[in-house]
Formats: sequence, structure tokens, C-alpha cells
Amino acid sequence: CTIPRSDASDVADAAEAAKAAREGEWSKWSVGQRADLLDAVADIIESRLEEIAAIESRDTGKPFRLAATVDIPRAVANFRFFASAVRQHHDGFHEMADAINYTLRRPIGTVGLITPWNLPLYLLTWKTAPALAMGNTIVAKPSEITPMSATVLAEVLHEVGLPPGVFNLVHGLGHEAGQAIVEHPDIGAISFTGGTSTGAIVGRTASERFKKVSLELGGKNATVVFDDCDVEKAVEGAVRAGFANQGQVCLCGSRLLVQKGIYNQFVAAFVAKTAAMNVGDPADPDTSLGALISHAHRDKVESFIALAQEEGGTVETGGVRPDLPDPLNAGAFLRPTVISGLSSSCRTSTEEIFGPVVTVHPFDDEDEAIRVANGVQYGLAASVWTQDLGRAHRVSAALDVGMVWVNTWLLRDLRVPFGGVKASGVGREGGHYSLEFFSEPKNVCIKLA
Ligand code: NDP
Repeated sequence: CTIPRSDASDVADAAEAAKAAREGEWSKWSVGQRADLLDAVADIIESRLEEIAAIESRDTGKPFRLAATVDIPRAVANFRFFASAVRQHHDGFHEMADAINYTLRRPIGTVGLITPWNLPLYLLTWKTAPALAMGNTIVAKPSEITPMSATVLAEVLHEVGLPPGVFNLVHGLGHEAGQAIVEHPDIGAISFTGGTSTGAIVGRTASERFKKVSLELGGKNATVVFDDCDVEKAVEGAVRAGFANQGQVCLCGSRLLVQKGIYNQFVAAFVAKTAAMNVGDPADPDTSLGALISHAHRDKVESFIALAQEEGGTVETGGVRPDLPDPLNAGAFLRPTVISGLSSSCRTSTEEIFGPVVTVHPFDDEDEAIRVANGVQYGLAASVWTQDLGRAHRVSAALDVGMVWVNTWLLRDLRVPFGGVKASGVGREGGHYSLEFFSEPKNVCIKLA
């Protein structure tokens, strides 16, 4: 398809439309009306689930089954969840001996939403729903390589009666349209999900202009497996964490740390399960891994596999393109790859690859596991596999990350804080964290006579 290559003047038009909308009818909508609108959006997306999942699969190369069971249901859940959350949201009241304080929550005004290509509708709706719930107007830019489901969302918002100008979608390139959103003086907050180096530019540009900013960035997450774990469940969990969405989820467990007592047994089972995964036609329900997002991205992932070998690693499985029939062989497919024998501090083991590549590392004890897990610039998430409750608590507390899963991975309750530390980002989204991000508190203090 062809999409507009919007520039700063298009962003300025969008911001002007957003400003007019926030001063118009939209500003009079009650919380209940906004929540009802979010529910209506959820209903329409749900009724078109298969069609939108097919669009998402076609646009990204991810398996249709994944889009139909994870991405699009999550977009529905985002709208339903924030409809309910904003209906229940309450603000502060503080009583003094001779005065009362109450805190109003007001929309920021216009907010800028910038999202990546790996979970296009899932992440755009994760920001759009709370931003609308709190009464903002929006200028949004999806990744230019996955524009389709964002366009569908704009159509659905129009269909449910969102006033014109409240949601403005600007397609274009990151350094043009995205940068213009971050720079625009009338866009008061930026919620950005994407890579760490882009996040640094966005953070710098936004903070120079005193904008509120939320940055959800990259990860190099550890899956930490202790020898007292349920091995079968841990292998299954580690495979899912390593290769979901072709390894292109910021939360993917791309470093597998295994305690020495079970290292050989565990790695053998992990490699066998990985080698058995089906790579191929995203439309086929038996496909586990579809295509990577682009040929350029596959080149980058393959360059890391070559680097791993230079750094002394052994490719246990994968590392090659699958042999697929026409026309699939023209796509950016890659077999899921497991690499052993690397130091935990080399580039392959510490830099974000964002593809179907997992490195495996043995460790002796808890202290070593924590030291290795924390030994990267990122701090997004980790999963810990153990049946020892004390150990689960100790290790979870010691990991420098925003989220820890114990004996599971990517189990999400939308109320909990989502986000990372260190180079994985700034701020949290989810539940009341999102509602607070997308609003400004205003305290009113009344002196009692
Ligand atoms: P990028 O950082 O390249 O892009 C993210 C978005 O920012 C895109 O819409 C991009 O547009 C836009 N953009 C690029 N440059 C600028 C700029 N100067 N100003 C404003 N916007 C800009 O990330 P990817 O799309 O490559 O996504 C993969 C990354 O996202 C990975 O690092 C991954 O870890 C991270 N991610 C983090 C998540 C989290 O919650 N922590 C969740 C999912 C992904 P365009 O594509 O048009 O260049």
C-alpha cells in the first residue's frame, strides 16, 4: 500500500485540529460518555477481529493465529479496561483543621503517541484508550512500516462518533513526522514506545520543551532457571519467552541463564523444542514463527549471529533461513536460533537483537545469576523459574528491572505498572499510572470560615 509521507506542516495541521477539538464539544463530554465510547470501540474491533488480525498479520509477517489470539484481543481489552478504569478512578481529598484540599484531574490537552512496528494495534490502543479516557486529543504516528491497523483504528473511532479532530493519525517517517510531533509546542505530552537510541532523542527533545514524557524502550531480558524448577514448564516458558512474535517483543527473554546442575539437560530440551518450531506461512495455523519485519531487520539479526560466532559462540540450532516454497522464500524468514558458549558480557549477550535469537549461559548460584542478569544496560523485565518461594522473592527483589515474572512469562494484568529502568525507559504505563500520565492534577485548597 501507499501511505502519505507527512511532514512538519501536516503535524501542524493535526495539532491545530486537535486544539480546535479540545476547545469544542469534546471538552463537555462526561467521564461516562467517554467510557461508553471506549466500550463501543472495543465492541467494533471485537466484531471485526479476524479481519483486523489478517491485516496485522499481513502488515507485520506475524502468524495470523498470534494476531487473532493475542494482538487484537489485547486491543479490545485495552479499550474495555480503560473504560472501566476511568469510571472507577477517583481523586485525592485532604482535610486540614481549617481547610480542605481536593485534587482535580484535567486532560493535558493534546498528546503525541508514537508507536513501533512489533505490536502495532496492541501498543497504539494501549496509549489511545487512556488518553481519550482522560479527555485529551491525540496526534498519533505509527511506524511507517506497519500503518494499516492504525488506519483501521482511526476509521473505527470515526464510526463510533468521536468528534472530528480528537484523534489525528499522521503517517510518515520517524525523523520527519515523529520528530515534528515531539517538537510541536502545542502537544503537551509524548508517550513513546520504541528503541532506546530513538528514545534518547525523543526524551531530549521533549524535556527541552518541558513536556511530560513516557518512554518504553528496549530490553535484553533474562530468563533465570534454577535447578529446582519444574523443568518441563520452564523449557516451555523459555521457548515462548525467547521466540514469541519472532523474538520481536521488548519483553522477550533473549538471555537464558541456567543453573549448572541442570544446564546440559535443560539446554538439550530447549534446543530440541526450538528446532521443532514451524517457521513459514503466517496464514497457516500450525506456524509458530512468521517473517521478521523486514529484510533490513533480518540482515541486522543475521549480523549478530555472525558476530556471535566471531565471539566464540556455537550455534546449537537455527542461524539459517528456512527453505520455503515460492513466494514465501522471498520473505524475511529466519529459523529460531540458540547460541551457547558465549561470555555473558560480550556484545551478542548484552545488546538488544530484537529477533529470534537466544543465548544460553550457565551459572553456579543465586549471586552469580543476579550479577549476570543485571549486567546489561537494559532493565525491562525478567522471568525466574524456581519452586523455592524464598528464592523467588529474593531474586525478584534483587533484579534491576521493572517487571519480574515467576514461573511464567508475559502474564499481564492491565492494572499493574508496566515499564522499565535503566536504558529500558522512564515512567510507567498501565492502570492508574496511565490515567495519571495522561492528565494533570490540580489541587484546590479552600480555607474554612
Ligand atoms: P524505533 O525507535 O525505530 O521507532 C519507534 C517509533 O518512533 C516509530 O514510529 C518510528 O517511526 C518513530 N521514530 C523514529 N525516529 C523518531 C524521532 N526522531 N522522533 C520521533 N519518533 C521517531 O523502534 P522500532 O519501530 O524499530 O521498534 C523496535 C524497538 O521498540 C525495540 O527496541 C523494542 O525493544 C522497542 N519496544 C519497546 C517496548 C516497551 O514497551 N518497552 C515494546 C515494544 C517495542 P518510523 O518507524 O517511521 O521510523
